[in-house]
Amino acid sequence: MIYGEISMKKESIKKEPRCIICGKEVDGLEVKPDHVINAMRWFKRNITHNEKNYRLVVCKDCYVKYKKARDSYNSKTVSYILIGVIFAALLIITGRDLGAVAAGIGIIILMYVLSLLSYMPGLKLAKSEKRKELNSSSKKYNN
Ligand SMILES: [Zn+2]
Repeated sequence: MIYGEISMKKESIKKEPRCIICGKEVDGLEVKPDHVINAMRWFKRNITHNEKNYRLVVCKDCYVKYKKARDSYNSKTVSYILIGVIFAALLIITGRDLGAVAAGIGIIILMYVLSLLSYMPGLKLAKSEKRKELNSSSKKYNN
C-alpha cells in the first residue's frame, strides 16, 4: 500500500535537480551518468533502499570548483592506475607465478578504488554545447 503510493508519487513528480558540489536544489549543467553513478544508484536502490532519485547537476556557482575537482580526479586516476600497473608488472616479473599475477591484479583494483575516493563525474554535454561551453566558460562562470 505505502510502497505503491511512493512509486506513483515518484513517477508523477519531475525529478528535482541537485548540485553535486554544494548540495543545493538548483538547476545547472547535468551530470553524465557513468558506471560509478550507476553502481552507486544500484547500491542505494538494492542495498540501502534510500535512493533519492535527484537529477544530478553542477550549478553555475560551483562550476569552477567542480572543474578543478574533475581535473584532479582525472589526473589522479591516471597516475594511480599507472602506479598499480607498474607494481603489478614488477610483481609478475619477479614472482612469475599465479599468486604474483593475482596480487598484481589486486593492486590495480586497489589503486582504482583509491582513485574513486576523489571521484567526480563528467558532465552531459552535446558536442555543439561543449564547444560553446569551452568558448564561453570564462565569461559565464569565472566572474
Ligand atoms: Zn552548487
